[in-house]
Amino acid sequence: MKPIQSLFQGMQYLFFPRICCTCAEPLSKNETHFCLNCLIDLPYTHFEKQENNPAIQRMWGRFPFQYGTSVFHFSKQSIIQNLLHQIKYGGNPDLVEFMGEKMGLRLENTPFTTFPDLIVPVPIHPLKEQKRGYNQSDLLCKGISKVSHIEYRTDLLVRKSLSESQTKKNRSDRWENVATEFELNKKIKISNKHILLVDDVMTTGATIEACAIALQQIPGITISFATLAIAEI
Ligand SMILES: [Zn+2]
Repeated sequence: MKPIQSLFQGMQYLFFPRICCTCAEPLSKNETHFCLNCLIDLPYTHFEKQENNPAIQRMWGRFPFQYGTSVFHFSKQSIIQNLLHQIKYGGNPDLVEFMGEKMGLRLENTPFTTFPDLIVPVPIHPLKEQKRGYNQSDLLCKGISKVSHIEYRTDLLVRKSLSESQTKKNRSDRWENVATEFELNKKIKISNKHILLVDDVMTTGATIEACAIALQQIPGITISFATLAIAEI
């Protein structure tokens, strides 16, 4: 490395130190995004080892998913809440992709009867994506694809309308709100795929359900889902 380069990098570290995204402690050379202590504390659900886990149970009687899982528990004041806040408002695309890689590694242990051959993110409205700079589900897919080598595509589902904040709505209101938001991009001709639908947080499951219903128009389709986190309801 040229001296000027190393000087520049040294200055960069001084002004923009690499810190843990959770506890803000400086990271050592071998650490990425998380310090070792926070990495160990990540609240994994271990759902991928259970066929009838709480995430898939939440969708029972609503859509015939082949399999479903959520990788982390989401609870108030937790590492994952902090993380999701950063993902939504912090503009840290590398961190989102890193979390996608964590998801991908967990998916290797799932009891899929057939393994997915296409990964599809839940789309966000283009205006939201423009504001945030990315769709977090796209980046999760990118991370999953990196470790699993399964193709992902972001153009299969289209989000039609910008919904109001859904946090204060009850289950049936939320369902009415999202049920008609997603549309299959009919320009894309595919069939006989096992699609893994990917989203950041699962709450009622209304979004996952609405996306699956839109994807169901594809001939010979099988659908599974994976979310980064699952919230208690
Ligand atoms: Zn930390």
